[in-house]
Amino acid sequence: MVENVRSSNSVPALVIVALVMGLIIGFVFGLTLPSLVSSKSERVLAYEEVAAQSAVEEAAKLAVQRGFDSPEYDLVYKTLSGGELYDGPSLAQSMPIETKEVWLSWMRNNRNDSPFFLEERWKLAHDFVESSELRRPQDVRAFLLAPREHFVREQNLNLAYADTWLPIGFGATITDPDVVAMMTTTLDIKSGDRVLEIGTGSGYQSAILAYLTQEVYTIEIIKPLYIETDALYRDLEKSFPAYGSINRKLGDGYYGWEEYAPFDKILVTCSIDHIPPPLLKQLKADGIMVLPLGPPGRQYIMEVKKNIAEDGNITLTRRDVYNGLGVSFIPFRDETGASYSTSVPVEKKVISQ
Ligand code: SAH
Repeated sequence: MVENVRSSNSVPALVIVALVMGLIIGFVFGLTLPSLVSSKSERVLAYEEVAAQSAVEEAAKLAVQRGFDSPEYDLVYKTLSGGELYDGPSLAQSMPIETKEVWLSWMRNNRNDSPFFLEERWKLAHDFVESSELRRPQDVRAFLLAPREHFVREQNLNLAYADTWLPIGFGATITDPDVVAMMTTTLDIKSGDRVLEIGTGSGYQSAILAYLTQEVYTIEIIKPLYIETDALYRDLEKSFPAYGSINRKLGDGYYGWEEYAPFDKILVTCSIDHIPPPLLKQLKADGIMVLPLGPPGRQYIMEVKKNIAEDGNITLTRRDVYNGLGVSFIPFRDETGASYSTSVPVEKKVISQ
């Protein structure tokens, strides 16, 4: 009887011992197994890093031979500049602008601009803040980062920060800085927005856009001007990495850039008397287009918002953003050089009356 009781008691005792052993083994494996797995993946990561490093070294050798146009150059460039520097909006965000002194000292430590032009740039930016032509802080930052002195022609260097448009050859102009500021602020660009500019010209406007979003697309129709500005960007990229993110194309901007459509924002920097339908089509719902609208010789800067109702009906909201002030942009032309505007130029109308 006593024996019986003992033996019936010993079965649960064995079960308990087995359970405890199981728990201990499980606990030990639970602790060590993940660390075994992770140390393996760390090793893989280390191998990958070495492989990437030697791929970059290999690419660097080829880039020296093949030059700026090669994909090897792009790889080396992107690796060396790092995400942070390459990303214009992040750079702009990290720049202090509370006072001229802190800004100047940051610029001296982080960039290579001439002190003379920095003083002028600060002054112009603050004139535009006062006149409300620059409204949002991020637009002020973008304006303060774009070195206009590199985008004007050498003979006009002393006018780089004068509030006026300047000729850049091929019958084109770099737009007045206040109009650039106004159009930029109106676009209300957020980091990550996909923005299309029609009329690359000097490249100055897109240089500003590159500090507001990583997704800038710009089209120029005059081939030698396109080549000149493309070369300028490649040269400037060494000191201003954000320009490496500007996607550029030679072509007729009337038809937009289908491959990358739709766009959050579209900026037209040549004058036209109607909204190009292909551009309107490539604008997202609730997207904003800014363009100098009107006949040759006199236009108004219009903000066009595209609203799509639930039933698919499209309506446009138009607003003159410059309080009725007239501007005169160079014409939007097709590939034969003919203007897309159908109206009779204002000057001609006056003469014939
Ligand atoms: N955004 C420029 C302004 C340049 S002036 C800047 O900041 O410097 C306008 C530009 O529009 C000219 O370079 C002109 O060649 C270009 N342009 C005119 N018609 C065009 C078209 N159909 N497609 C693309 N660019 C055009």
